[in-house]
Amino acid sequence: MRCFPTSRESSASSYHRRMGSNDRCLFCRIANGEITARKVYEDDDVFAFEDINPQAPTHVLIIPRKHISSLDDLGDGDAAVIGTTLARAADIARNLHLNGDGYRLVVNTGEAAGQTVFHVHFHILGGRNFGWPPG
Ligand code: AMP
Ligand code: ZN
Repeated sequence: MRCFPTSRESSASSYHRRMGSNDRCLFCRIANGEITARKVYEDDDVFAFEDINPQAPTHVLIIPRKHISSLDDLGDGDAAVIGTTLARAADIARNLHLNGDGYRLVVNTGEAAGQTVFHVHFHILGGRNFGWPPG
């Protein structure tokens, strides 16, 4: 007999325990479907969705399912998680045909760099030209 969780909350917290995620984190909650987002891609390791406040014609965020607050908080073993997330970002950019003209990946790290959500994420930005140095 299958045993179903009796409430949404217990389902969510068992997901969070299993995935190494954080039930108070906005992006963990998007990845497990507790908060709706416009999904672009998902697999066992990553979740990608459209940014709610796009800064380019294409603006996708990709996150590892594992909760890591920022690049400054990588732990032992997280290099593989970040490597997978980066490789999936490149796959998504290619699938969205951003690779022809070029695209930009951004990882804001810490408050001075403009990080506002403390679950590590890559911004995939495309569909326009980007200046350098960045603002
Ligand atoms: P950062 O400032 O680098 O931490 O990036 C956080 C990004 O998350 C910003 O570009 C926000 O527009 C985006 N964002 C915040 N809340 C949501 C949401 N509920 N769904 C999609 N994107 C979001
Ligand atoms: Zn998180």
